[in-house]
Amino acid sequence: MSTIQPPLLEMRAISKHFPGVKALHQVNLVLYPGEVLALMGENGAGKSTLMKVLVGAYQPSEGQIFIDGKAVRMKDPRSARGMGIHLIYQEPNLALNMKVTENIFLGAEKTQWGLLSFQQMRKITQQVLEQVGATFSPDALVGDLSRAEGQLVEIARALAFKPRVLVLDEPTAALSEHESQRLFEIIKHLRGQGLGIVYISHRMSEVYNLADRVSVLRNGVLIGTVQRGPEDPNRSPVDPRRAGINAEKLVQMMLGQSLQEFQKNPQGTPRKPVLELIQVTDGKKIKPTSLTLREGEIVGLGGLVGSGRTELARLICGVSPLKSGKIWLQGNMLDLKSPRDAIQAGMVYVPEDRVNDGLFARLSVSENISIGVLERHSHMGLLNFSEVARQVKNTVTRLNIKLSSLHTTVEDLSGGNQQKLLLARYLSLNPRILLLDEPTAGIDVATRAELYRTLSSLAASGMTILFISSDSAELVQIADRVLVMKEGELVGEIDPARGESITLEHIMEFATGLKGFTPEDWKKRHVL
Ligand code: ADP
Ligand code: MG
Repeated sequence: MSTIQPPLLEMRAISKHFPGVKALHQVNLVLYPGEVLALMGENGAGKSTLMKVLVGAYQPSEGQIFIDGKAVRMKDPRSARGMGIHLIYQEPNLALNMKVTENIFLGAEKTQWGLLSFQQMRKITQQVLEQVGATFSPDALVGDLSRAEGQLVEIARALAFKPRVLVLDEPTAALSEHESQRLFEIIKHLRGQGLGIVYISHRMSEVYNLADRVSVLRNGVLIGTVQRGPEDPNRSPVDPRRAGINAEKLVQMMLGQSLQEFQKNPQGTPRKPVLELIQVTDGKKIKPTSLTLREGEIVGLGGLVGSGRTELARLICGVSPLKSGKIWLQGNMLDLKSPRDAIQAGMVYVPEDRVNDGLFARLSVSENISIGVLERHSHMGLLNFSEVARQVKNTVTRLNIKLSSLHTTVEDLSGGNQQKLLLARYLSLNPRILLLDEPTAGIDVATRAELYRTLSSLAASGMTILFISSDSAELVQIADRVLVMKEGELVGEIDPARGESITLEHIMEFATGLKGFTPEDWKKRHVL
């Protein structure tokens, strides 16, 4: 990284007020040549607004912009482009009924080289498409390209004008994993050529991969900027002792509170038992198991992959048949024949591979939520639409899902909001007990933090949550109490109400068999 060089760009004390909204207050931002500066922050933090001010799409209410140390005024995006600054918007910005070449030179047929013939434009287009590794032709109709290819056209368009600064606003929101990887290679290549790149994202993994420095905005205020430290192979990105770009610290900056602060309902208050398992077994993997879940608690279910956690959850909520044993829910003995019986009784299981029964990208938010409720609101095949609508509205409010309208399609939501929506579907079934199987597999740290917050508030309102996770660090963060399984059996419990502390080491000791309860230990805690 080249921080010894003078900055390419500086935004100084930028404020932007919209009627009734102070979107930015006194924000400072510096960009050096040959670096990727990640700009992070929750939805609505002001990231897009700051970048629109940079390219003159908005005029700042206060503040100044400097390029190579000289104050400049960005009249509009075209004048910014003339100074080498390009913004690739969050929303695609292409003419679908035109060819790639036409899109690249649209409104800029006259360039720094004067007037270009179509053949010259086509040739330049060919070159910049090669630079971004595109395989489609300059003559392709943009409307026939995929969303990822459209994005390559936008990057190619920027490159055709020899940019010095490239700003990408949440560019991977609509890309597959593979397409995202390719975009990262292009970005690294451009950085190598000395461009200054601002990369807006709230995905932690991307920021690790790409960023030299990270600036964090919260409520329109620059909270701080961190710099990549010397890499320490012995520390994971979430290890708070790791220097520089550290997930724990960045999440804290973005949210204004640490992950640790989410958890944990006040201790010492005895809670009412809600669900009791007495010697339940499927006669196969799960050995006779007894346990109690109480009102308003988040119980972590830890253990190694394959230890039987999923099988136990499936047994509890009627997916797999019970061979013997009893399940009591709030004093009533259950006789579950199917997941539907469990839902009726108030238990909802969210399986691990939710992708299969996941969201319908092209349907609206409201349609996606109501798919779960439809059944309950249809009497003799008749739907009560106003009741469904009311329920959908409640759920969106309860989970603090940020939407412009309930008719927004799911593909237009951020990953975090999609995750909440998925949860909303299950919550619309009104569970007393929610069983979540690896709910954070494959989701980034900021989104996790949101999920933890949601779960804490659901628990605070009295819901009981069984949280299965192979990530023991996550159980340390979120669980009020932890149960550990090994080879189809509960082998340990860590209960702070008994003075035990939930730590990684304690969970691992049980999970690997270093430590284990005897039946006597277990009897002291749970009915057998
Ligand atoms: P981010 O990109 O970080 O998600 P934005 O920059 O889009 O955040 O928004 C920051 C704040 O400014 C939000 O409260 C948003 O509602 C508000 N805002 C953004 N653009 C406008 C606008 N054109 N008119 C009024 N308010 C706006
Ligand atoms: Mg934005």
